[in-house]
Amino acid sequence: MTSTDDLRPRLPSPLREAADDRFARHGVRLLLKRDDLIHPELIGNKWRKLVPNIEAAAGRGLVTFGGAYSNHLRATAAAGRLLGLPTVGVVRGQELADRPLNPSLARCAADGMRLHFVDRATYRRKAEPETLRAVLRAAGAENAYVVPEGGSNAEAVRGCRALGAELRGRADVVAVACGTGGTLAGLAAGLAPEQRALGIPVLKGGFLTAEVEALQERAFGARRGAWSLDDRFHFGGYARTTPELDAFAEDFEHRHGVPVERLYVAKLLYGLVALADEGAFPRGTTLAAVVTGRPFPQVQPPPDRS
Ligand SMILES: *Cc1c(COP(=O)(O)O)cnc(C)c1O
Repeated sequence: MTSTDDLRPRLPSPLREAADDRFARHGVRLLLKRDDLIHPELIGNKWRKLVPNIEAAAGRGLVTFGGAYSNHLRATAAAGRLLGLPTVGVVRGQELADRPLNPSLARCAADGMRLHFVDRATYRRKAEPETLRAVLRAAGAENAYVVPEGGSNAEAVRGCRALGAELRGRADVVAVACGTGGTLAGLAAGLAPEQRALGIPVLKGGFLTAEVEALQERAFGARRGAWSLDDRFHFGGYARTTPELDAFAEDFEHRHGVPVERLYVAKLLYGLVALADEGAFPRGTTLAAVVTGRPFPQVQPPPDRS
């Protein structure tokens, strides 16, 4: 068994009230669940999702998948360095192989991750067993433990139950930004029956309800907990932003002294302010927003147009 001592986390993560008149005037208390403080390098939900997989890997190296700015690739690379495990990152975009690494991929490489670039068509088919085998062979990672793109598998989802359990009795509604939906799937399963979870997808597409259901089926055998999604706050898709969203995030940082990660957390917080304004939360609601990550310096990902 791999020692995960170097991944010793700060758990439960802190839960702090944020006095904010945009919520207070609707009778809503806002709490921030600071999962960004769990571990200095393996941040937030990435820690909760990756550690159960590292345990399941039992000392084998890890291979995983991501785009050129993936938080999940960086987290996996950091875990590999901290534990002395080899890691391979399969990166979407063959054309990136001939360019200087962006700061996010450079960080992965500096942490010892071997990067293997594949074309977009192959990348899309990576869940098909034939394609996966060929990619792993080409990457020299045939014996590695495979963590899926975004890190969401049954182990990861079960790992995120603890996030819900830490919030039992502390809030009526718990809100989280969603990429793959794995964090929401586990969080909802860990909450008490009278609590509900709200997911804010940052990708466009409206496919996430089925994905979260499928993840819960795989992790628990059935749908679990009370959860729903609000698909209106993706701002056009992954890594897309607007001047209004940027200004909102900067203002939130100044008001509350909390660094606001831009790809996920900014959209979550913006969505919650909008929902409070619409009267979506009854007066007397305690609302916990999960701060799932921290800004990564120097990275300005271009919008994903795929
Ligand atoms: C990866 C990530 C998410 C999304 O988690 P999923 O389990 O894929 O939905 C949310 N916030 C931050 C900061 C992330 O890095």
